[in-house]
Amino acid sequence: MSNKIKKLIDYFNSIDDLEVLVNPADRKRLSRDFYNYSPVLKEILDGCIADIVVRPKTINSIIAVAKICWEFDTPLTLRGGGTGNYGQAVPLDKGVVMQLNNFNKVEKFYPETGFVKVQAGCLMSDLNKVLKKNGRELRLLPSTWKTATIGGFISGGSGGIGSVKWGFLRDPGNLIGLEAVNVSASPELLKLDTQKSESLNHAYGTNGIITSLLLATDIKRDWYSLVIDCKEFKKTINLLKDFTSAAINLKLVAVLEKEIVDLMPAWFRSKINSHKILIQTTLGGLTTIEHICRKNDLSVMNLGKEDELENGISDLVWNHTTLQMRAKDKNWTYLQMLLPLNEESQFINSIKSVFDNKILWHLEAVSQQGVPRIAALPVLKWTNKNDLNEIIDQCRKFGAIIFNPHVLTVEEGGLGVIDADQVKAKIEYDPKGLMNPGKLKGWESRESFLG
Ligand code: FAD
Repeated sequence: MSNKIKKLIDYFNSIDDLEVLVNPADRKRLSRDFYNYSPVLKEILDGCIADIVVRPKTINSIIAVAKICWEFDTPLTLRGGGTGNYGQAVPLDKGVVMQLNNFNKVEKFYPETGFVKVQAGCLMSDLNKVLKKNGRELRLLPSTWKTATIGGFISGGSGGIGSVKWGFLRDPGNLIGLEAVNVSASPELLKLDTQKSESLNHAYGTNGIITSLLLATDIKRDWYSLVIDCKEFKKTINLLKDFTSAAINLKLVAVLEKEIVDLMPAWFRSKINSHKILIQTTLGGLTTIEHICRKNDLSVMNLGKEDELENGISDLVWNHTTLQMRAKDKNWTYLQMLLPLNEESQFINSIKSVFDNKILWHLEAVSQQGVPRIAALPVLKWTNKNDLNEIIDQCRKFGAIIFNPHVLTVEEGGLGVIDADQVKAKIEYDPKGLMNPGKLKGWESRESFLG
């Protein structure tokens, strides 16, 4: 251990309300996320381990950590639940990992707006319990909502269960404001309005330590989980569109191709060899879903209220589909994309004609800034990087927008382009570039954003 690390440990140990973890097993465990879903990232990230992990309980201890990292020029990588898929919480340049799981209070609920102010380390499952008491619930949930934090979701996630109605986290109206600590000679608590908060939303913790969030919530509803068997894949896409254009409340509409269904947990597989549509709707919505299905000679299986199910369909959608498949065979990996509008079936047929049945289709209905769209998280067996890139290139060629889960930076994984405001926020709140180095591509060309 170097003298610098020894000194850092001494300083951290002198801070009140700060847990300091230095043993190798803890450091290794808390320097990983679920990047191993990507064999490409696994190769790059397996050896990246923090020198020290700290867990603050108060704003003062967060500020003290930021100040010490500044003084020692030490990289600082933030961590919530560590459930990200892109290695977002992995410390590329070692240094300090700060996990916010002990900074987790629901600070205030505002009944007149339905907004909630919550500390970043709060688990979404805990936040939803508090909201439920107020007749509310989170609008958007990743399928990892039981173990992921709200700060990690805003910083590293994009959308999920609820995106069929509420779009993505960066759509206006979901994040109302936030508080953050900067990494500077005199770190302080910054209170950012909606506009200023935008650049910290989905920035992988590269431009500020988010300490609390002000979020819009939805009315709490009882969501019923439905499953529909359908023999024809093209028909599942038409039905998905019929359901999302109906005047009903929906939390989720997903399609799993039959080869995927065969690899889901035993309780979900059926004797019928068919594709499956998974839906979460209200009791009122069920009547309309049944009506649409009757017209198509299909029947609806109502599993009951999702909250009360031993096996819920929330564990089979979004990236949990990939999780379930990887539980059977670790060679499964995945892609993420938005299918070309109104050409979804043609697109899938074109890809099938090039790659036979190498790619299995998993679709999710989403709203993109108010427009109903179909996202896909197809699964495929890993062979090598060239094959993967060839598939990505073909998908792009046929019109899909790719959110590549096999890359490290904010821009390549999601946004597609450099967001000047994110870079400017990093220049302002992290001028030494200590926060999660290597994850914001725009930082490399920061000179062009100065002045
Ligand atoms: P972490 O993984 O700990 O961190 C994520 C990023 O946020 C990191 O860059 C970290 O540095 C940063 N960060 C954490 N806390 C802070 C903070 N306080 N301030 C600033 N930056 C911070 N994602 C989705 O969007 N939708 C899904 O449906 C979804 N499904 C998934 C399913 C599976 C099986 C898996 C493995 C992952 C899935 N994910 C999904 C990815 C991930 O689970 C979510 O994005 C989750 O919300 C991340 O939360 P976390 O607390 O685990 O964050």
